Amino acid sequence: MRLRNVPGSEAIVGNSPFVVQEAGKTRGHWKAAFGNDNPIHIEVGMGKGKFLNTMAMGNPEINYIGIERYTSVLLRALQKMEENPLPNLLFICMDASELEQVFGEGEVSRIYLNFSDPWPKARYAKRRLPSRQFLARYDKILEPGGRIEFKTDNRALFDFAVEELEPAGWTARQISYDLHRDGEMMEGNVMTEYEEKFSSAGNPICKYIVYRTADFLQNNTESTTG
Ligand code: SAM
Repeated sequence: MRLRNVPGSEAIVGNSPFVVQEAGKTRGHWKAAFGNDNPIHIEVGMGKGKFLNTMAMGNPEINYIGIERYTSVLLRALQKMEENPLPNLLFICMDASELEQVFGEGEVSRIYLNFSDPWPKARYAKRRLPSRQFLARYDKILEPGGRIEFKTDNRALFDFAVEELEPAGWTARQISYDLHRDGEMMEGNVMTEYEEKFSSAGNPICKYIVYRTADFLQNNTESTTG
């Protein structure tokens, strides 16, 4: 994402009631932060927050948390919330490499990665959000049976992400290399800012839904024997 520094964004994000400050202090207590017992879904690298805003409006029984490291970007999501505050949506301004300091073991039910930065140079592969290093972090915070959903138009990044799954202990339940022509996977699809931009330019969108391999095998055995 090309980043334009917005003067004053740090102070606005630092004082916003929609942004959890010192998020590590809420580790293990996220449901209490929302005041209910609903599941927690997070988007890592949320950008300007269109996806989460739409999801939160459509699914009031889910608590959503958006994670974005740049205040200048997060600011745009705050503007949407000021116009239409949603009780089931919060934001954290942080680097996702610190996820385990902010979420307790199994505290998150679902993780969305949408149009993650590709970091094309091999030496930066571990910064890619679907890399095995990040999958190990997601493994710590995701509840048993929890899933990760990843979308991108970047085929090289998607191929890399698929290759990372098996060595990291994850299995894909669904994969599409052209999401917008896949009736089943498109059901209920909510477009992100980047998805709108790239799909309208004609780029096919790739998507996977993955589970820990152990959970996947258990579920499949249960559904074939039961
Ligand atoms: N998810 C949005 C979408 O699909 O429209 C935004 C996609 S944009 C290409 C990627 C976003 O992820 C950027 O805003 C970037 O700052 C954020 N991001 C990338 N790596 C991150 C990290 N390690 N921690 C937090 N945010 C990150």
